[in-house]
Amino acid sequence: MRIGVMGGSFDPIHLGHLVAASEAAHRFSLDRVVFSPTGESYHKATDTRAPAEVRYLMTVVATAADPRFHVTRVDIDRPGPTYTADTLKDLQAEFAEESPGAPAEWFFITGADALADILGWRDPEQILDSAHLVGVTRPGHALADPGLPADRVSLIEVPALAISSTDIRQRVARGAPITYLVPSGVAHLIGKHDLYRSS
Ligand code: ATP
Ligand code: MG
Repeated sequence: MRIGVMGGSFDPIHLGHLVAASEAAHRFSLDRVVFSPTGESYHKATDTRAPAEVRYLMTVVATAADPRFHVTRVDIDRPGPTYTADTLKDLQAEFAEESPGAPAEWFFITGADALADILGWRDPEQILDSAHLVGVTRPGHALADPGLPADRVSLIEVPALAISSTDIRQRVARGAPITYLVPSGVAHLIGKHDLYRSS
């Protein structure tokens, strides 16, 4: 089993995330990609944010049609801030329990912006021990190996989508369209839960 993991606040999930996951799955012959929305207290500037349960719901809706894509609650259900080292540890423990003895290879998929910061994350050695890092191109960010062991990281080009969750939240706040930037089910949930309108 070859398993990709993509962590993010997914506030909201958008086509940039889905294209990155799909391309990484194709290039690395992944059997599945697990999306892990961060817990409630992820560190970001404070403007209008969606609650974890709604981010989880949007992620489930966005990935529902793709048989390779799954969503995990490990980061949402763990109290405190989300650290990728914990995400991988919990997912690997869960897999070992579900499929005892089954071999698995793990890949952590990250955009160029996040990859550049990774050595500053908690327990980078543990992250590198638990998964092969897949850095993907993202418009506006230079993709480079930030000094990781060469056999632990791969850089791949994915179709360029200049979409960010920040931009989508700002678009909703000013009444600009988000159609074709997020899956239609996500746009519906943003409307239904009245997200991002007063930032
Ligand atoms: P925000 O603007 O709130 O930071 P975001 O669009 O960066 O949101 P995140 O949830 O922070 O989305 O990102 C999760 C992961 O997806 C990160 O590894 C990020 O680099 C990657 N990613 C996000 N958008 C893209 C994109 N358009 N192309 C490639 N990778 C992306
Ligand atoms: Mg981001």
